[in-house]
Amino acid sequence: MNSPQIATSQTVPQQQQSVHGSYNMGSSQILRELIAFSAESDEIALETRHADEIDQVICRKHLRKLLTALQARDAATLSHCRRVAFLAKGIATNLGWEGIHLKRLEVAALLHDIGKIGVPDHIIFKPGKLTSDEIELMSHYHHIGLDVLQACRTDHEVLTILSQTRFHFSGATNGYQCIGSDVHQGARILAIADAYDSLATDQVYRAGKKHEEIMSILMGAAGTQFDGNIICALSRWEQTERDTFHEAIQEVNQNFQPKPLTEQEISEANLISNIFSYLFQIESLYDGFYIVNADFQFVLFSPGLEQLTEIRAFDILETAWTNHSLPITNQEGTSLASSEHTMNRVIASGKSMTTELMLKRPDGRLIQIEVQSVPMFGEDGRLVGVAEIFRDLSRSLKRPQEFNELKMAASQDALTSVANRGELETQLAILLNQASQNQNAAPLSIIFIDADHFKNINDTYGHAVGDEVLIELARLFQHETYSGELVGRYGGEEFVILCPETDLDHARLKAERLRLAVNNLKLDNLNNNRITASFGVAQLEPGDSLESLFHRADNALYQAKETGRNRVCSLTCDEQMSGAAPDIVEPAQPNVGKMVFESSFSALISSDIVVYKLGGFVNDNDARLTEVNPNRAVMRLGKAGLLPFWGKTDDRRPIEVELVFDNATKKSTSASRHATPRVEVMIRMTPLGWIKQPDVFQQRATRVFRLLKDYFVAD
Ligand code: GH3
Ligand code: MG
Ligand code: MG
Repeated sequence: MNSPQIATSQTVPQQQQSVHGSYNMGSSQILRELIAFSAESDEIALETRHADEIDQVICRKHLRKLLTALQARDAATLSHCRRVAFLAKGIATNLGWEGIHLKRLEVAALLHDIGKIGVPDHIIFKPGKLTSDEIELMSHYHHIGLDVLQACRTDHEVLTILSQTRFHFSGATNGYQCIGSDVHQGARILAIADAYDSLATDQVYRAGKKHEEIMSILMGAAGTQFDGNIICALSRWEQTERDTFHEAIQEVNQNFQPKPLTEQEISEANLISNIFSYLFQIESLYDGFYIVNADFQFVLFSPGLEQLTEIRAFDILETAWTNHSLPITNQEGTSLASSEHTMNRVIASGKSMTTELMLKRPDGRLIQIEVQSVPMFGEDGRLVGVAEIFRDLSRSLKRPQEFNELKMAASQDALTSVANRGELETQLAILLNQASQNQNAAPLSIIFIDADHFKNINDTYGHAVGDEVLIELARLFQHETYSGELVGRYGGEEFVILCPETDLDHARLKAERLRLAVNNLKLDNLNNNRITASFGVAQLEPGDSLESLFHRADNALYQAKETGRNRVCSLTCDEQMSGAAPDIVEPAQPNVGKMVFESSFSALISSDIVVYKLGGFVNDNDARLTEVNPNRAVMRLGKAGLLPFWGKTDDRRPIEVELVFDNATKKSTSASRHATPRVEVMIRMTPLGWIKQPDVFQQRATRVFRLLKDYFVAD
């Protein structure tokens, strides 16, 4: 049978798990987490039976974890969800909703895009239009969200609302399912709140629209896509509370300041991200799946399986599995004997298995299916649950080949085809996780590489030649490394090589070999001129995080650059602590060691030019102003990466910059009316995202501080 297998620790022997493309690692552990979610929710539900309303809708702890993971993945989507929740709640209140129903709608709205956590970066953050394949893949996010919320034992009304939000009100358009006013009113409200906020928000391809325009677009789809009565309720709400309506939406935005996450929150967010990514794979490759816990109680029955079997999840969730739970027969159409059920066989053998069977549809038709059964064991070796994953063999709609190609695209750098930065971080996180679980783990080293004076190559030979050199470099690194190692492009002219089972000395030797190979590279396009590169090497040491390891290799690379380029430098923790790392810039003394940078300068301009200058700075540096008035401005610089860690380049090191302009204390003490006007500008910077080393932050902040000073012609 030539179909992809859900790999588990049972089905994949350890030695076959390569560093690259080992997404399946720990998949049974991921499924086990879902069982743990349901157990935890049950426990909390018992404790909080009479308590707060939220815990009756979804366990508050899980709600927080899910929203934190969404913040880490895509903060813009989280703020969209918050506005949609505000709108949905307001519309519903105007329609007379109250109490627990209102709470459920609010939770549904907050979580309506939660599945996006599992969608690969190249789809979710693609700036242009999606291809039809990508749209198909994207559509799985809806199901993933429902999968996880089921496992969290989320209230049924919430799940009903979420499963119907994408149904059209009536009329057949866009291939959406249409069931008219049978659609839950909450789903109809949520659909309108969602559309309203999407239209009102600036998108990459268009600016946000004004209220009147949005209302006329929504009205245009009244009776077909949307429920006209609900659009009217929204309109009434806006008319009666015109002043407060728009202000309130603004406030929802302003009150949302994504806070830097703690180490614990990051590790929880990573776990949730892994769960969603894995479910994305199952949803894209298979037709449906279910999970039972150690008591053989159904904890998850996926929307795909609902469609395949026409059994409603609500009818089967929390019931116990029996031989008759699913209408499965043998090839001849006869009911299975107890010993023939894959579930019973897997429990007896403790091993996963794949079987071809038949599924009886409600109309009596038999369709051929493939069932993969995966037992899950706890740390103590006891069975904690079983997952059964289904493929409908009667239709070939699922295209694993193409999906795998798309998945590859998600992890590859488009120019050089080596791993991209996201893939590097994912694989390193997996390696670190393995190392943290095993005291005697093999050593692990990383090599940072930065081409020397690459800008000159672009300037001399053109950007296209520069691109070809990067491709050649990637090819060389691939060629010179072993199969277990992972070569990736970290960005620009920077590469990283992950070297499992390699200690620092060997990694240095390897880097030296690579350095010579780069020196010897003959490139026709460069008229046979040679290129060189600098190398920074570090080995994983106890207590290292992904970030601190990267940081050390980066520091070593910096040292290589500082001491003349075309060389290899390495750094150990001890060397770093003893100050072997060069101080890049001199941070202002009072800030040393702090995660806040405070300083000031006096600008040689008049106060009315300050805002104008600031506009220039914001434009040139791709900053985002979050607040500006004559006395104070707040802006954000840099983007957050896949993980909430700070990246290696400044554009991946987000910070918040607060500027306070003191117009009152102009230092024009001179009596002359022609004295140059001055404004005191107080600066305060704090890091966004997660970063351990204050010195890295201080260096970044100092660079920004200098840039700002340049803009304001300050002294
Ligand atoms: P240094 O030795 O200090 O590393 O000098 P450098 O010029 O290599 O470093 P710098 O960081 O100043 O400049 C990096 C250059 O790499 C600038 C940018 O134009 C070029 N670059 C980054 N990405 C690409 C790319 O995808 N293609 C091409 N052709 N050039 C790129
Ligand atoms: Mg560089
Ligand atoms: Mg360079």
